[in-house]
Amino acid sequence: MLGNTYDHQQCSIARALEVVGERWTLLVVRDALYGVQRFSDFAERLDIPRAVLSDRLRSLVEHDVLERVPDPDHRGRSLYRLTARGRELWPVVHALASWGSPLAGGDRGHRQFRHAACDAQLDANGRCPTCGAMPAAEDVLTTWHGAAPPDDDSVSAILRRPHRLTEPVG
Ligand SMILES: [Zn+2]
Repeated sequence: MLGNTYDHQQCSIARALEVVGERWTLLVVRDALYGVQRFSDFAERLDIPRAVLSDRLRSLVEHDVLERVPDPDHRGRSLYRLTARGRELWPVVHALASWGSPLAGGDRGHRQFRHAACDAQLDANGRCPTCGAMPAAEDVLTTWHGAAPPDDDSVSAILRRPHRLTEPVG
């Protein structure tokens, strides 16, 4: 079995990949940035085995990317929220979105990110062209342009409404 550590690598990228390099983990972080907090909502979005999702959430809590807090609306259940350390992954996720954009197929619907204060679309580096700032996640408005994907689910439909990153949805 392949390990998930890179013990012999004296490298901060290797250390970071030990936290977010496993399959699905960065997509959990992406959805947390989009405002997903409940296990059932992550499960619906990602459509992965519950055991895998549990493992990824547990690992992200262990590494101080997410914090687990009681869900005030559902006794006995938890919410998973990005920590300050977790929100620092926003530029990483945005850079991957920019880099992956040519691979995603331009004729389909796609997500856009705007600096909420200026209502201007961020450039490929995550910078606001109006004020020159690189806004933190909570200052970024996300909007959806174009058609919904054919294999849509109810959580994704909610996430397509314009809202600020990290703002809880659903
Ligand atoms: Zn701006």
